Amino acid sequence: MTGKVYFIGAGPGDPELLTIKAKEIIARADVIVYAGSLVNKKILSYALKGARLVNSASRNLQEIASEIITAARQDLTVARIHSGDPSMYGAIAEQITILEKENIPCEVIPGVSSVFAAAASCAIEYTLPEVTQTLILTRRTGRTPVPEKESLSSLAGHQASMAIFLSIGMIEETVKDLMAGGYPSETPVVVVYRASWPDEKCVKGTLATIAAKVMEEGIKRQALILVGEAVGRRVAEPSKLYAPDFSHGYRVARKNVREGMAVVAITRRGWHTGRKILGAIDDAVLFLPAKFREEVQEPRVSFYRDAMHEIEQLFKQYKRIILIMATGIAVRAIAPLLTSKWEDPAVVTMDDAGRNIISLLAGHWGGANELAEKLTHITGGNPVITTESDVMGFPSIDVIIKTLTAGTVPHNPVRIKEVQAAILEDQSVGFYPRELGLFRDMHGHPNIYFFDTIEDLMKSRCSAGVIVTHKAACSIQTDKKIICIHPRNLTVGIGCHKGISAQEIKRGIEEVFAQMDLSLSSIAKICSIAPKKDEKGLCDYANQNNISLEVFTAQEISRVGTVSPGSSYVREAMGVEGVAEPCAMLGAFGGKLLVRKIKLTHMTVAVAEISLKEIIQNSGETGDE
Ligand code: SAH
Repeated sequence: MTGKVYFIGAGPGDPELLTIKAKEIIARADVIVYAGSLVNKKILSYALKGARLVNSASRNLQEIASEIITAARQDLTVARIHSGDPSMYGAIAEQITILEKENIPCEVIPGVSSVFAAAASCAIEYTLPEVTQTLILTRRTGRTPVPEKESLSSLAGHQASMAIFLSIGMIEETVKDLMAGGYPSETPVVVVYRASWPDEKCVKGTLATIAAKVMEEGIKRQALILVGEAVGRRVAEPSKLYAPDFSHGYRVARKNVREGMAVVAITRRGWHTGRKILGAIDDAVLFLPAKFREEVQEPRVSFYRDAMHEIEQLFKQYKRIILIMATGIAVRAIAPLLTSKWEDPAVVTMDDAGRNIISLLAGHWGGANELAEKLTHITGGNPVITTESDVMGFPSIDVIIKTLTAGTVPHNPVRIKEVQAAILEDQSVGFYPRELGLFRDMHGHPNIYFFDTIEDLMKSRCSAGVIVTHKAACSIQTDKKIICIHPRNLTVGIGCHKGISAQEIKRGIEEVFAQMDLSLSSIAKICSIAPKKDEKGLCDYANQNNISLEVFTAQEISRVGTVSPGSSYVREAMGVEGVAEPCAMLGAFGGKLLVRKIKLTHMTVAVAEISLKEIIQNSGETGDE
């Protein structure tokens, strides 16, 4: 017997969504049995000229089966065409059972189900990270009963994404079942009519509004009801796959890469305050309760169902968080999430009208104090700052470290606390070098002293001290409580041969730094001449060490000139006397050259210093504003 029966998924309607395999079988079938109501008749144009075409719509199962069996027994090829994918409501199981009994070979060719065509039409992702990872495909009980344990109301309890087939004629009952099962009335619903057909429609609403909209559109059949938070999400949470803290084969996870600002409001008045903040801060996103979904027009707004859960997600993602709600609610939400002041995001709370603006978490390191101050200009409210140093006008070691190290998390937090305590207790505390006096709040404290050398500080009667130096050796034998800060203030000028590896650059820099007793943590950037801006070794070294690569034009370099004698090789190749020295100095904003050009095998290295004054003044933390 050479006859065979193929159960073919014809896709949702658009003939171009037919698989190549399906098209090929249709093109050689002797008999084609198709579901006339849902299958696009255009695909029949691929059929053989003399093929027998049978519309199954008007026949019962027994009639269809005998048609198919007769053909197969005559060694004919039969294509039994279903809409979408035959495994969903295709009733193929019963047909296959009959054929197997008759020993007739059959095969199933999958197709694009309407559930996926509908998602495509409306650009929906059913499985949004942090929202749901589950899609339920189901139908409401109608003429065909659905087992009680899968009733819509019991499935609704999961609040996953749901695609409901064969139920559009019962939209009101469907909505009732879903709400009875636990979906809130503001849950998004999208009804997709005739997905992928020329007359397709995408009707969007919520459980509260969708039935009326469907009636208005006159949709009674051939539509899917898609339900769930993910289905209506406007600003999706970025997928874990692209998130910077997600490790996979190509990317190495970086810790603590929170970015941007999240503003969370829970009331209508809070929403209006949030809107003001959005208008003033470009990278802010506003998160509102889902019940406002229908009213909100502006971009950069996302919706949540459960405020506590939402705040938990935002806490992991955002660098700065503004919670427009009672501080008690905010505290309850973030309490289980706290790690340390070096890692936690800045959290500011405020009342609905933005009158009292409280720096709640990570005041110094996270910048919540600064943010609270900034917000007062937006809402016209008062800042509430409770970090002792700020209230008493004492310097904050955290702010000093953060400013000088560009936010590198320190590894000696206990020591930092001790020195800060000494300052707050008015013990005598020494600072080296004198430039640190430029920090805001350094002035006017009788027990704070500045020194020109580390030795002077050590000999003094100060019980604690802060030493800021790019020298590597900073472990001083003393009973004083000392913290040593390596500021990010060195620029490394590099001239190099083409094709040099990041490894060789690293070794070269380490050699020079060891020789000169400089700390590698003090490297702020590496600098070179413009044609080197894509030199792979330089770029890789910069990326691997999380520092920037800055390049300068020959013109800029010539204006600075070199300290060491020029090189004829560089003059010919680049048109300048040298690269390493002038680039290091340019990168340091004209700062002092610390290490003159050192020649290594394939590179030259010079080091310059950005003055602390420059760094402090650019940070806005100075006292002379
Ligand atoms: N096997 C098919 C489903 C057949 S049941 C599939 O995989 O898509 C028929 C139901 O499918 C219809 O009541 C409707 O809910 C849905 N449906 C089929 N084609 C559709 C289309 N193009 N657009 C929207 N819904 C469709």
